[in-house]
Amino acid sequence: MNIFKCKLCDYTTVSMKYTCPTCRTGKLEAEEVSSNGTVFSFTDIHIAPAEFADIAPYTIALIQLDEADVKVTVRMDGPVQIGDKVQLEKIVDGAYLYTSI
Ligand SMILES: [Zn+2]
Repeated sequence: MNIFKCKLCDYTTVSMKYTCPTCRTGKLEAEEVSSNGTVFSFTDIHIAPAEFADIAPYTIALIQLDEADVKVTVRMDGPVQIGDKVQLEKIVDGAYLYTSI
Protein backbone atom coordinates (compact mmCIF):
# COMPACT_ATOMS: atom_id res chain seq x y z
CA MET A 1 0.00 0.00 0.00
CA ASN A 2 1.19 3.52 -0.77
CA ILE A 3 1.57 6.04 2.02
CA PHE A 4 2.75 9.63 1.72
CA LYS A 5 5.39 11.00 4.00
CA CYS A 6 6.64 14.56 4.53
CA LYS A 7 10.38 14.83 4.01
CA LEU A 8 10.66 17.65 6.55
CA CYS A 9 8.55 16.69 9.57
CA ASP A 10 7.69 12.99 9.01
CA TYR A 11 3.96 13.69 8.85
CA THR A 12 2.44 10.56 7.28
CA THR A 13 -0.90 10.06 5.58
CA VAL A 14 -2.64 7.62 3.25
CA SER A 15 -4.21 10.28 1.06
CA MET A 16 -2.13 12.28 -1.38
CA LYS A 17 -1.83 15.99 -0.62
CA TYR A 18 0.19 18.56 -2.52
CA THR A 19 1.99 19.98 0.50
CA CYS A 20 2.29 18.88 4.11
CA PRO A 21 -0.69 20.10 6.22
CA THR A 22 1.46 20.06 9.37
CA CYS A 23 4.58 22.09 8.50
CA ARG A 24 2.97 23.60 5.37
CA THR A 25 6.24 23.62 3.42
CA GLY A 26 7.26 20.00 3.00
CA LYS A 27 6.44 17.97 -0.09
CA LEU A 28 4.88 14.56 0.47
CA GLU A 29 6.57 11.61 -1.17
CA ALA A 30 4.99 8.22 -1.82
CA GLU A 31 6.42 5.23 0.00
CA GLU A 32 5.42 1.59 -0.43
CA VAL A 33 4.80 -0.23 2.87
CA SER A 34 3.24 -3.51 3.93
CA SER A 35 -0.54 -3.33 4.20
CA ASN A 36 -0.46 -5.60 7.25
CA GLY A 37 -1.54 -3.99 10.51
CA THR A 38 -3.32 -4.18 13.84
CA VAL A 39 -6.91 -3.24 14.69
CA PHE A 40 -6.83 0.06 16.61
CA SER A 41 -10.58 0.49 16.88
CA PHE A 42 -13.67 -0.71 15.07
CA THR A 43 -17.36 -0.09 14.73
CA ASP A 44 -20.21 -2.22 13.44
CA ILE A 45 -22.31 -0.50 10.80
CA HIS A 46 -25.96 -1.54 10.90
CA ILE A 47 -27.50 1.45 9.11
CA ALA A 48 -25.36 1.78 6.00
CA PRO A 49 -25.22 4.50 3.37
CA ALA A 50 -27.26 3.60 0.27
CA GLU A 51 -24.31 2.24 -1.73
CA PHE A 52 -23.44 -0.24 1.04
CA ALA A 53 -26.99 -1.11 2.16
CA ASP A 54 -26.82 -4.54 0.52
CA ILE A 55 -23.79 -5.63 2.56
CA ALA A 56 -24.92 -4.27 5.97
CA PRO A 57 -24.31 -5.06 8.74
CA TYR A 58 -20.54 -4.86 8.33
CA THR A 59 -17.50 -3.78 10.32
CA ILE A 60 -15.36 -0.70 9.71
CA ALA A 61 -11.98 -0.81 11.43
CA LEU A 62 -9.18 1.68 11.98
CA ILE A 63 -5.93 -0.17 11.25
CA GLN A 64 -2.51 0.84 12.56
CA LEU A 65 -0.07 -0.23 9.86
CA ASP A 66 2.93 -2.31 10.92
CA GLU A 67 5.49 -0.44 8.86
CA ALA A 68 4.34 3.16 9.11
CA ASP A 69 2.99 5.48 11.78
CA VAL A 70 -0.32 5.85 10.05
CA LYS A 71 -3.86 4.54 10.47
CA VAL A 72 -6.13 3.45 7.65
CA THR A 73 -9.91 3.07 7.68
CA VAL A 74 -10.91 -0.24 6.12
CA ARG A 75 -13.87 -2.60 5.86
CA MET A 76 -13.46 -5.99 7.52
CA ASP A 77 -14.72 -9.24 5.99
CA GLY A 78 -15.89 -10.42 9.42
CA PRO A 79 -15.92 -9.56 13.13
CA VAL A 80 -12.66 -8.35 14.75
CA GLN A 81 -11.36 -7.34 18.15
CA ILE A 82 -8.97 -4.53 19.07
CA GLY A 83 -5.42 -5.82 18.75
CA ASP A 84 -6.20 -8.37 16.03
CA LYS A 85 -3.58 -8.73 13.27
CA VAL A 86 -5.12 -8.13 9.88
CA GLN A 87 -4.08 -8.09 6.24
CA LEU A 88 -5.37 -6.66 3.00
CA GLU A 89 -7.60 -9.12 1.17
CA LYS A 90 -8.54 -7.01 -1.83
CA ILE A 91 -9.55 -3.56 -2.94
CA VAL A 92 -13.26 -3.20 -3.75
CA ASP A 93 -14.42 -0.04 -5.54
CA GLY A 94 -11.37 1.80 -4.22
CA ALA A 95 -12.00 0.72 -0.61
CA TYR A 96 -9.75 -1.60 1.35
CA LEU A 97 -11.26 -4.93 2.39
CA TYR A 98 -9.25 -6.51 5.21
CA THR A 99 -9.31 -9.96 6.79
CA SER A 100 -7.92 -11.35 10.06
CA ILE A 101 -4.57 -13.15 9.80
ZN1 LIG B 1 5.77 18.40 7.03
